[in-house]
Amino acid sequence: MKIGSENNLKIEQIPCLDDNYGYVVHDPETGATASIDTPEVAPINAVLAERGWTLTHILNTHHHFDHAGGNEALKAQWQCRIIGAANDAARIPGIDMRVSDGETFDFGSRSVRVLEVPGHTSGHIAFYFCEEGAVFVGDTLFALGCGRLFEGTPEQMWGSLSKLMALPDETVVYCAHEYTQANAAFALSVEPQNKALQARAKEIDRLRASGLPTVPTSIGRERETNPFVRVHSAHLQETLELSGGDPVAVFAETRRRKDHF
Ligand code: ZN
Ligand code: FE
Repeated sequence: MKIGSENNLKIEQIPCLDDNYGYVVHDPETGATASIDTPEVAPINAVLAERGWTLTHILNTHHHFDHAGGNEALKAQWQCRIIGAANDAARIPGIDMRVSDGETFDFGSRSVRVLEVPGHTSGHIAFYFCEEGAVFVGDTLFALGCGRLFEGTPEQMWGSLSKLMALPDETVVYCAHEYTQANAAFALSVEPQNKALQARAKEIDRLRASGLPTVPTSIGRERETNPFVRVHSAHLQETLELSGGDPVAVFAETRRRKDHF
């Protein structure tokens, strides 16, 4: 952890499109500035202009248009370096640097670890800023939810969520969508007995009524309230009629029910 708040990594959360969040991350020591995904060019540029930052990097979590759709325009404007998954390079527009699971790369004076988290797409990755305890998870883990399985199996997604849940409880989780209120309704339907979830759902309603974001979240908060990572909960298993079921089966059934909720 760096000493002195003036040196702390700056993170700007940027509402984009209907319900996306883009993020711009700035290292004051070196001036390095990254857009984590590129859902929409104009609001990202507005933050850069307001702060007087120069975009040096784009870090893509996955290829979907609401995550990589602004790559080419931003690269043409800023000549920034685009970092994305090696195993999905063909679908990341303008990619310069291909990264794989467990690899660490320098971003300014910081180091960022790549976590492969397939399931939503086959080439989905997360970016873990180790010293800051911040992780950018794209569409893999949401506040009270997880991404739909467009290209992966429940086994893969369960492995990906488990990898994220192995990070320290206090890790701040930056999700790419504001889906929390709808996720809370589903979570309460499958684990209505969960007191922490009940309290969180009320807090979410308060925040949304004031037009405030419910993101970021933390690993610890998700561990207590997110049904997709609570496959060991006896109450959840009971709802699903899978008491004693193995984690992948409980996860798969939770995801299936959410798809039809
Ligand atoms: Zn997506
Ligand atoms: Fe998305």
